[in-house]
Amino acid sequence: MTTPASPPQPPPQAQQPPPRQQDDGLDDAALAVAVAALLAGSAALAAAGGAAAILAALRRRFALSSAASQALGSVLTMVTAYPPPLTGIIGAASAQTSRMNAARRAQYVIAASKRVLGAAREARAKGEPIGAAVRAQLERERRFYEQHQAAMWDRAKAAGQIDMEAAVHGPLLGWLAMKGATPECRQASGKNFYVDSPPDIGLPGIGPHVGCRCIAVSPWPNGELLAGSGPGYARAA
Ligand SMILES: [Zn+2]
Repeated sequence: MTTPASPPQPPPQAQQPPPRQQDDGLDDAALAVAVAALLAGSAALAAAGGAAAILAALRRRFALSSAASQALGSVLTMVTAYPPPLTGIIGAASAQTSRMNAARRAQYVIAASKRVLGAAREARAKGEPIGAAVRAQLERERRFYEQHQAAMWDRAKAAGQIDMEAAVHGPLLGWLAMKGATPECRQASGKNFYVDSPPDIGLPGIGPHVGCRCIAVSPWPNGELLAGSGPGYARAA
């Protein structure tokens, strides 16, 4: 007896929580994708009005409340004023990292917009000045964003190092942990991995944890292969 094929299920991250009473349109999964795409083209959009042009494009496609739209606009203004450092794509590691950084930036924009909106609502509920609450939250967001930028830059640098090694040795590389590495990184040290099909712990200097200083080196002779789930799967701290 054969079982009828079940319809394909969306991946877990595509599932949205049920709509809340107060729906500002910021939970639309497609919004994050659109923000990522618009931010990627923000250099071109800058000529056409930068953050305002991005916001206008988003408002045309998504049902944003006017409060959500204002919060998103203020965060986009901040993010487009501090563009990420230009990094090239020279191989599999930098291609993965570039995609990951773009996704992280878009997720950050949405999360920050929700926090700004939350600060405005809280101030209104308490009868406090809304403008001051929004400015204070935006100042906190600017500091968070600087940390995000630093983390993105560290990942881009580590990816460049891995791709340079791959250019010399090919896609199979060795993992080398530095002094003071975590137990997980020490275990990976001396083992090998494929840059285009990364190990489950991620790529050295990118995946295991924030501040990982592990590097890629020439493959260890007879080195054990680190377990991986296949191409397209990448973990990043
Ligand atoms: Zn490490």
